[in-house]
Amino acid sequence: MTKMAFSRIAQRLFPSVLWRGNPILPRVALTFDDGPDPVNTPRLLDVLAKSGIKASFFLQGKNVEHYPEVAAQIAAQAHAIGNHTYNHTHLILKSRRLIYQEIKNGEQVITKSTGSSPRFFRPPYGQMDWRALKIASGMGYQVVIWSALPWDWKAKTPKKIVAATLPCLFNGAIIVLHDRTPELPAALELIIEIGKQRGFSFVSLEQMICSQ
Ligand SMILES: [Zn+2]
Repeated sequence: MTKMAFSRIAQRLFPSVLWRGNPILPRVALTFDDGPDPVNTPRLLDVLAKSGIKASFFLQGKNVEHYPEVAAQIAAQAHAIGNHTYNHTHLILKSRRLIYQEIKNGEQVITKSTGSSPRFFRPPYGQMDWRALKIASGMGYQVVIWSALPWDWKAKTPKKIVAATLPCLFNGAIIVLHDRTPELPAALELIIEIGKQRGFSFVSLEQMICSQ
């Protein structure tokens, strides 16, 4: 089965999950997973501020615990914040208790650092089963996966990240990148610049949902 066919089936099986924004509007949501990172996240924030755009950060609770000031900085700059569990635990076939605790622990530390509780949840590795989906939804989360994964952590240069990300720019795309990829801040500037030239606007998940 091709990746695309698998994704289509998964989207039908999990209709409450957000996979993509409005396909008519030229809007793209950049999302950054696994942060905050003490060095790279502030660099990403600088690029976003300079470009005047909002993005979304799916934070890992354990990293928020280590770098609460960076999490607070993301919130202060009005980017959307999502919960990515506390330990980045794989959530398939896990007990109710463990799933709940992973989400709750992430939520508590994010809320403490940023002053508000996260509205979005993304399971680690983008993988979850019915049980995890039900628990996250029951806790009030909008579960978000993605429509494009450029594998930025595998690319060794900013140029390669840009080349891998540009084909992911399409109407309503939700793109996953990673705070900890060292070459990402340099690449991000170019991705935004070229994306804007191609007529896309970059929005946070909150902004994307509002435009549905
Ligand atoms: Zn992750």
